[in-house]
Amino acid sequence: MKIGVLALQGAFIEHVGVLERLGVESPLVRLPRELDGLDGLIIPGGESTTMSRLMLEYQLHQPLKDKAEAGFPIMGICAGMILLAKHVSDFSLEGLGLMDMSVRRNAFGSQVDSFETDLEIPVLGKRLFHGVFIRAPIIEEANSTVEILGRLRGGTAVAAQQGKLLAIAFHPELGNDLRLHRYFLEIVSTN
Ligand code: GLN
Repeated sequence: MKIGVLALQGAFIEHVGVLERLGVESPLVRLPRELDGLDGLIIPGGESTTMSRLMLEYQLHQPLKDKAEAGFPIMGICAGMILLAKHVSDFSLEGLGLMDMSVRRNAFGSQVDSFETDLEIPVLGKRLFHGVFIRAPIIEEANSTVEILGRLRGGTAVAAQQGKLLAIAFHPELGNDLRLHRYFLEIVSTN
């Protein structure tokens, strides 16, 4: 299995480390031709505005969107979640617009822009998942085709799946819990 890691900007190296630990080849992706031969892609956290600008500049935007629409699996982390969403409040640049949900950037404001909390994510089993949130987005609304995988204690949705697309508001690569990456690999290997 080969899972690309989008390496235009942001926290991509950490994902390469996790994938290596899981024994998966994880080439960095910057150019459209580097999408060839991949079984899936991780879009890391970073700055969604910069990443979307670079995706357009590197002419990755349309090929990636076409591939995803044809069933190519993508896991989007934080900024990656923003790029996957069809609707983003306060976002003028072009995302990939693939998941039927509305996302709000920097949803926790400037006072509490980073925090950590344990989350229930039933698809990963009973053990709570330690979520590191860094200037994170939230899912404000989602179509019934989008499955919410995890919520904060107050009910705010922070992880979702639609087909082979996975959107995570926090940073599973910053820690030792590999279950979310493993879950993505399972999605990748099912037909
Ligand atoms: N706040 C960033 C954005 O809007 C996302 C932060 C992150 O990826 N950790 O793109």
